[in-house]
Amino acid sequence: MSINALADKVRAGGRLTDAEALDMYLSAPTHLLGLLANEVRQKRHPDRTVTYIIDRNVNYTNVCVARCSFCAFYRPVGSPDGYVLGFDEIVRKIDETIELGGGQLLLQGGHNPDLPLEWYEDLFREVKSRYPTFRLHALSPPEVLHISRLAQMSVPDVVRRLVAAGLDSIPGGGAEILVDRVRTLLHCYTKASADEWIGVMRHAHRAGLRTTATMMFGTVETPAERIEHMSRLRALQDETSGFTAFIAWSYQPEHTELQGVEATAVEYLRTIATARVLLDNFPSLQASWVTQGGKVGQLSLTYGANDMGSVMIEENVVRAAGAAYCMDEIEIVRNIEDAGFEAKRRNMHYEVLGGPIFRERQVPRMLELAVARADGDTAVPAELVNYPARSRAERKRRARSQVYRTMSPDLAVADHKPWWKGARGEWFVVAQVVLIGLVFLGPRTLAGGPAWPFPFPHASMVVGAALVAAGGVLLVAGFVRLGPALTPLPYPKDGAELVETGAFGLVRHPIYSGLLVAGFGWWALFVQGWLTLAYVAVMFVVLDMKARREERWLVEKFPAYAAYQLRVRRFIPFVY
Ligand code: SF4
Repeated sequence: MSINALADKVRAGGRLTDAEALDMYLSAPTHLLGLLANEVRQKRHPDRTVTYIIDRNVNYTNVCVARCSFCAFYRPVGSPDGYVLGFDEIVRKIDETIELGGGQLLLQGGHNPDLPLEWYEDLFREVKSRYPTFRLHALSPPEVLHISRLAQMSVPDVVRRLVAAGLDSIPGGGAEILVDRVRTLLHCYTKASADEWIGVMRHAHRAGLRTTATMMFGTVETPAERIEHMSRLRALQDETSGFTAFIAWSYQPEHTELQGVEATAVEYLRTIATARVLLDNFPSLQASWVTQGGKVGQLSLTYGANDMGSVMIEENVVRAAGAAYCMDEIEIVRNIEDAGFEAKRRNMHYEVLGGPIFRERQVPRMLELAVARADGDTAVPAELVNYPARSRAERKRRARSQVYRTMSPDLAVADHKPWWKGARGEWFVVAQVVLIGLVFLGPRTLAGGPAWPFPFPHASMVVGAALVAAGGVLLVAGFVRLGPALTPLPYPKDGAELVETGAFGLVRHPIYSGLLVAGFGWWALFVQGWLTLAYVAVMFVVLDMKARREERWLVEKFPAYAAYQLRVRRFIPFVY
């Protein structure tokens, strides 16, 4: 069929096949595509209204095991840059959103293995108990799938529990391109195959939720695969009518593993125009100004879009890949009205709520998008210790946090710092190395004998050396197994002062002190003589005095530390 015949078919309300849509996408002049898309849009929305929503895009965690190659946002488990937002932080963000006239949170995040279903339920309940009418547009299909795998529950059961906790609707993120060849190349097949993504949406629609559908294009897919993506969405919409809108955004390559180049404005406009023509059963189509900027976003309104998306307030994912466009409500409304449309505020169900809020009351201007966390803020939310973690790194960190919190509720524990990086830990290690070196080389040399290890005057020297080596191995094992539990590094909430107790606590570690004494004792008695034994004894007395002084200071500064020490003493009573 010729392009003109296809255009006539669209104008007559006919439905394009995949092959016809591909023909139009590849061959129709851009202005004709725009014209057709605009006509379809006008039929659906004859009143020249363009809607937008005031909400906040909150990414509750950037820790993710999926590792999609197009993503610059995620951090692997155990990364020092990984974060999980606390309930109080999310509540604060909601307060700010309400102040700007918003009524919804778009809540999405990485596939964090250490956040179980209960964490999401508690968060949703907390939000709903404070703000009953505030909407939670949360958890894209791959996240729902991830939670269901963690909980070993079916997707419908997970959706049911999340809805009971307060979930209102599901965003269409994580769709990328719904073709498994593409998903495999982008390393996102395992997070959700095309069928799985569609399956979660089907369950959500059946559970009565409305959702959006997205497409991220411009990576490794072909034009035919973009059409296949849209076609799959159209088929599901025929079945459930659960989608409210389609949103296409172009891949942002900066800081990603995949690299590449960004789609041009014309490619973007042709893509959304084709979507408007092909997705004849989708009520709305959003302009993606977040990836394309305000000007292309405005142009989208004549290429089929009838919605300017979200004022957004905060954005982290696209920004990480290099796009940081920002428009507050005043700017969005200016773009809509300047294009000849009437701007209306809406909710997630695309129900009009009214005109621009800034014309009703004063709202603060928002000249740049907020971020999830300030750079370098590694605070760990207090409530996390209440949930079981799956990753080894996080299990250890939470166990330590639990110990710290037992010590004092006033101590907010930042990410764990290993004992050897503590304020005084380095000096302790240096001191130990020097002392051990002196024990090996000093007294015997001073007494006129040869320095170790040449020659070997006594067989006992070999035995002594073996004992010390074995002690060293067990010492390391002791640090690895027991060290972290015995080396608390509490940070007062203001982060101003670091308290390091572990290095001195370790002097009295059972494995460490026992074997060191045994090894050095053997060495001293049979090889170096009583002088070395006295030397080792003095070393321990001095270190012990230092440890006790440190402890007294801690007990004085943090009274709850005393309780912690009692717990440790009960654990290893023979050492204290
Ligand atoms: S796109 Fe989402 S799922 Fe993929 S790595 Fe990034 S945060 Fe994880």
